[in-house]
Amino acid sequence: MKPEIEKLLRNNLKNRLPYASARDEFTLPAEIFLDANENPFETGMNRYPDPHQIKLKEKIAQLRDVQKENVFAGNGSDEVLDLLFRAFCEPRVDNVIITPPTYGMYETLAEINDVQCRKASLNEDFSLNVDTVLQQVDDNTKLIFLCSPNNPTGNTLDKDEIERLFNEIAALIVIDEAYIDFSSKESWLKKLDQYPRLAVVQTLSKAWGLAGLRLGLGFASKEIILILDGIKPPYNVNTYSQQKAMESFENATETARKIAVIHSEKEKMRKALKQLPGVSRIFPSDTNFLLVEINNATKIYQELINKGIVLRNRSGMMYCKECLRITIGTPEENVRLLDELKKLNS
Ligand code: PMP
Repeated sequence: MKPEIEKLLRNNLKNRLPYASARDEFTLPAEIFLDANENPFETGMNRYPDPHQIKLKEKIAQLRDVQKENVFAGNGSDEVLDLLFRAFCEPRVDNVIITPPTYGMYETLAEINDVQCRKASLNEDFSLNVDTVLQQVDDNTKLIFLCSPNNPTGNTLDKDEIERLFNEIAALIVIDEAYIDFSSKESWLKKLDQYPRLAVVQTLSKAWGLAGLRLGLGFASKEIILILDGIKPPYNVNTYSQQKAMESFENATETARKIAVIHSEKEKMRKALKQLPGVSRIFPSDTNFLLVEINNATKIYQELINKGIVLRNRSGMMYCKECLRITIGTPEENVRLLDELKKLNS
């Protein structure tokens, strides 16, 4: 293991043998499997799933142009993020850094894992403030979470600024690319070979339209993937999810078509919102949502709920005063939302 990764790994995970499931102990084809205490009668789901998700990982590697050894599959990307804590952060000793306003789960996972969460806020224009991050770093900083494109702000963090971080600190940098398939900017996957302390997290929950499947992806060096594979629950990605994801990958043109619709709907929504008198700012977005600054955001949020429409009120977040986050819906849903907003404004 590279010394820089070994230094980050939790002590209790060094020199440990991962749990070996029945499917780890015997991997060849056989006629009769009586080794895993499964029920022998066929239901389509009576057997455990492939714990190593071999076919799935091969397909993902092909799609994302990486090696299959660089791919980790999790029960949603929230599981991937949690496993990063469990692999690298010593509770009550280590710390992580997040850059608010950003995705809330990083802080929640820090709390659950009893790891200090330090905040290095973005600039007011939502760009990364490298100096603020560097001020928070110490020898116990293990993970830095950068969400790019960022939730809830929608912008992509500057590549050169992130590269500066790689050059100046020893922590693992986790780039959460949950929304990358909506973006025309380049993914960090291209940089996996260059940066051994890079972990990229993606999900099938957004552009792929499979939030219900719970399939999240981690991409990193082979050593980091082996560490994550060694601590995950053995059967963390269920059979149905593995099958359904494969089907969806075969149908990538349909996904691309839906992404294109979301893009054009987002631009329509942006134009229409601009016409509304209460709307003061609509932030640039490389995602499937728009962050909108609007007078009386909380009141509007409540009134929309009364009309059966739910947005995400982000007014309480840093630099997001009076901001609502609007996910782009179907064309019909977007028209409904705009109609109700116009009525509330008149
Ligand atoms: N990262 C970001 C930035 C997100 O916005 C979300 C979900 N809202 C996730 C991760 C979690 O996604 P998943 O459904 O894969 O757990």
